[in-house]
Amino acid sequence: MQKSWNHRARKLHPDDVDFHDRWGHLCAAGRRCPGQVTHLITYDYVTGRAGRVSDSSRLACEPHATRFVTKHQIEIGEPAPQRKTAFTAAVDSLTGTRHDNSRIRVRRDHSGNWYGTESGAGFFVSYAYRTELGRDDTLDTAIDVIERRAGTDKRMVRTTAWQRDGLSAVAEFVRAEDTDQWRDAPWTLMVHCLTDGYEAGTWVLTRQLAPQFRADVDKLGNTNMDLDRAIATVLRVLPLRWTLSDWTRDGDTATTTALPGPKPEPSSTVRLVAVAPRGVALGQDALIPTTTQEAS
Ligand SMILES: [Zn+2]
Repeated sequence: MQKSWNHRARKLHPDDVDFHDRWGHLCAAGRRCPGQVTHLITYDYVTGRAGRVSDSSRLACEPHATRFVTKHQIEIGEPAPQRKTAFTAAVDSLTGTRHDNSRIRVRRDHSGNWYGTESGAGFFVSYAYRTELGRDDTLDTAIDVIERRAGTDKRMVRTTAWQRDGLSAVAEFVRAEDTDQWRDAPWTLMVHCLTDGYEAGTWVLTRQLAPQFRADVDKLGNTNMDLDRAIATVLRVLPLRWTLSDWTRDGDTATTTALPGPKPEPSSTVRLVAVAPRGVALGQDALIPTTTQEAS
């Protein structure tokens, strides 16, 4: 038996209602309730022998939210802030403030295999480029292979000449979209539904600057989806600054071109992002139902 208090309930932002619907998230306030998620209900409680105070947030359908507020004699509170906007703003802020300059060094390991290491600025981790090249291959060949891989794996392009030092070489790289050559180039956007693998049935958006570069992939949803809804969802998952042309449809695929706008000014929300890599949700609104217990 647990004691609970400080019960709160609020409506979700319409975009978040849409988000939970696209991913098939159901009401977590009742046992196997098939209701569409529209509200967030929250309360504090004491748990365990130590009497630790914890809080619980659940996504709830309209009837369960109504039952919750009636039972606890509370009002539906202010609407929850939009989860997606907060997240996108944080990512945008990060993108706008971070320096993508990287240094790639090409060299051989003790068994003669050529490889590359990329070290980024700030807290971004290094990246390793493995190759099939061995003792019979030259530094020139290794440089060619790794420079191409920098584009296909990371969308990085070289900005300085390679500086050679014996059996190693180093050069500076930057994101393709941050160079004069690619900054104003249109991206190709494609929406389609995955048909293979365990994610079959998931609609995705791919964004490609050019064939030699890695494409970005955004997942759009796997429930109640069709091509129209997938297209409508693109504007929800993309940072708002993109400008899209008209879509061209071909069967269950749609394609368009798009131009990203200027990167946003640095903002203080970047501090939020420092906790995100640990898997901590940006606010309770991002909770995904994992329980079907009856809310108290
Ligand atoms: Zn429900």
